[in-house]
Amino acid sequence: MVEKGALYVVGTPIGNLGDFSPRAQEVLGEVDFIAAEDTRVARKLLAHFGIHKPLLSYFEHNKLDRGAQILGRLQGGESCGLVSDAGMPAISDPGETLVAGCAQRGVPVYVVPGPTAAISALAVSGLPTGRFTFEGFLSMNKRGRREHLLAVAQEPRTLVFYEAPHKLRRTLSDFVKTFGGDRPVAIVRELTKIHEEVWRTTLQEAAARYREQEPRGEYVLVVGGAPASEGREGGFTLEEALEIAREQMDKGFSASDAAKEAARATGLRKGGIYRALTGPGGDGAS
Ligand code: SAM
Repeated sequence: MVEKGALYVVGTPIGNLGDFSPRAQEVLGEVDFIAAEDTRVARKLLAHFGIHKPLLSYFEHNKLDRGAQILGRLQGGESCGLVSDAGMPAISDPGETLVAGCAQRGVPVYVVPGPTAAISALAVSGLPTGRFTFEGFLSMNKRGRREHLLAVAQEPRTLVFYEAPHKLRRTLSDFVKTFGGDRPVAIVRELTKIHEEVWRTTLQEAAARYREQEPRGEYVLVVGGAPASEGREGGFTLEEALEIAREQMDKGFSASDAAKEAARATGLRKGGIYRALTGPGGDGAS
């Protein structure tokens, strides 16, 4: 029995329809309406299970207006089921904003857990699972990607990334540049589907294979964390630090602040970066 005025965050399969839980079906059959990332995808899934409910689209580009509308209906006493295209809503999905809105307004939120690609991939990766960090998608923007990767380059926990097939090559190449080619990686593909595959290899080998082979399907990349012995000093060249510092200066930071940020990101000494940045005329601040 669903509660009036509550949001139900409902997990749906990431491939195999057999993973749609009996409770998910029951709850979606009882709510007043369903908010779906793509109503066509949801309608197909729900029809397969004989569930017929009013559907409302709720996706990245209408999430503010539509979210306000959904919140209004929830506060008016209706119950709503939230589903995304696949997996858990709010995990690299716009549901995050709606749940935050409910939390702010004191609207009750209940979860009906289902599969999520990140945790499923981590579980079969063969890499340490005791401590991990979920990194979602990398930005399309060059600077955003670089900053994201540099921020986790020394991270000792296992790293979990989502990636679209058309961006896989670029991402593997950026991983090799930032993390080095020897790191272990599990390339986890098409989970719970016919072509499900887990390839445990190194970043270098993965990048080489996908230079030859067209990436196909949905991917999760599970990357081993930085080895405990990997000192920051060994990880970056001065040239790389300078590149970061120059990016900071392009953003309007002073040479001193830019060198400080580059030192933080690379582990190299601020003084050396600053001197190289400002040339012989620099004051050598450190
Ligand atoms: N909310 C979803 C979840 O709980 O996993 C994730 C949504 S995100 C927009 C889509 C990304 O999840 C894909 O680009 C891919 O990286 C990953 N993904 C989804 N289904 C997958 C599957 N069956 N196998 C591997 N990765 C998958």
